[in-house]
Amino acid sequence: MIHNVRTHISQNEALLFERSSPGKRAYQLPELDVPPVDALAALGAGNVRAGIDGFPEVSEVEAIRHFTRLSTWNYAIDHGMYPLGSCTMKYNPRVNELVARIEGLAWAHPYQPEALAQGSMEVMARLEAMLAEITGMDAVTLQPSAGAHGELTGILLIRALLEKRGDPRKKILVPDSAHGTNPATAAIAGYAVENIKSTETGLLDVSALERIVDQDVAALMVTNPNTLGVFEENIARAAEILHAKGAMLYMDGANMNALVGIARPGDFGVDALHLNLHKTFSTPHGGGGPGAGPVAVKKALEPFLPVPRLKRSGKRWAWDYKRKRSIGRVRAFYGNFGVLVRALAYILAHGGPGLRNATVDAVMNAVYIRKRLEPYYDLPYGSPNMHEVVFSDARQAAHGVRTGDIAKRLIDYGFHPYTVSFPLIVHGALMIEPTETEGKAELDSFIDAMISIAKEAETDPQLVKNAPYNTRTSRVDEVSAARKPVLRWKGGEG
Ligand SMILES: *Cc1c(COP(=O)(O)O)cnc(C)c1O
Repeated sequence: MIHNVRTHISQNEALLFERSSPGKRAYQLPELDVPPVDALAALGAGNVRAGIDGFPEVSEVEAIRHFTRLSTWNYAIDHGMYPLGSCTMKYNPRVNELVARIEGLAWAHPYQPEALAQGSMEVMARLEAMLAEITGMDAVTLQPSAGAHGELTGILLIRALLEKRGDPRKKILVPDSAHGTNPATAAIAGYAVENIKSTETGLLDVSALERIVDQDVAALMVTNPNTLGVFEENIARAAEILHAKGAMLYMDGANMNALVGIARPGDFGVDALHLNLHKTFSTPHGGGGPGAGPVAVKKALEPFLPVPRLKRSGKRWAWDYKRKRSIGRVRAFYGNFGVLVRALAYILAHGGPGLRNATVDAVMNAVYIRKRLEPYYDLPYGSPNMHEVVFSDARQAAHGVRTGDIAKRLIDYGFHPYTVSFPLIVHGALMIEPTETEGKAELDSFIDAMISIAKEAETDPQLVKNAPYNTRTSRVDEVSAARKPVLRWKGGEG
């Protein structure tokens, strides 16, 4: 028998603070070859800190190992299927990374003179043109840093156009199935938000829209396909209704991975939309890394786009800052350039037919999951789904098992949970988005896991309710974690 074995990959990694030992350093500096300066005398007492209370002191190798071990605790798209609905957690082909690391692109500096940045500007110009083509719109800005940021930019553009017409208006309409960022955006842009209820099939209620749209409505913000994964089949009619009353149609294009190569928002009446490059166009995301939420618009909105705009000047690209109707900048410089490079690489690597295939595969995968899980999980809305499918926990709830429990149990089966309790119009929602990158074998093992859990919920509900078992920690107190987060190390007491 071996006692007191310490495994190398610690099952319960101590905090870096707990590993601290006075005097340890993670760096070594060469001996000083200039006269030393007294920091206190040079900078003044107010600018020099004696030390940081409780700051961890560890060696370089301890710091590296600590963070590397923690990184192995994360579930990632490179480990397996990540069916988090709405988030489009698809595999990111390595060729995108290779291209983003090309020296001239990776080291480009935003203050580089235009003459020396022609390649980077060409990358942005081509991406703008391709996104315009894919969406069927007239112009694109690459500046916004995320989906929500794109929404805000798009609504500010609409606002600028309406103000220019002398008709600023007061309200934005948002369906009850909307992503939470939509009403938040409308409110931040200074509009009152009015909800529209969905029909029984989970679609935009066009007759309600017809009744509600009046001289006060600036725009309707609609996700298409909506958060149930269902295509808004009356979208063109909705656009007509809005346009007839001088209002505009904003589309949340975060679900564009269900449309690319198949349908173009510009062709069904959309005036402005944002794309999530970090979803549809394959940039690694999650954990707060950089994203990009380009906005595509019709001609009427083009004069208001953020500055600077790319402009052809002879054989060269130049930045045009002199655009008097522009809403101004929405961020520093030109956008998250590395994300833009990845998106262009992804588009070029696929080509037109390849992008269309990706869309078809994404939809097929979600339909396959729906068909195979339908006998086990309640499907509250019957409309044919596209790239994602939303079940409810109604059948399992009869045994006291809720969507959150099923999600936790899924972790034991080796999968990242699906999206829990969203969209809000489905009580106890299970929102599943496989994306196109999963093959049949992976889909089948996910489906088998879900079926197995559905059976457990009937025969042994307590088993599901106490899951997960195979993780370092089981259930954490999520309410306290959200309401009373401990953000500062207090030396021992937690
Ligand atoms: C992800 C998502 C957003 C927000 O995008 P961020 O990049 O996270 O700001 C908005 N709407 C829908 C439908 C989404 O799925």
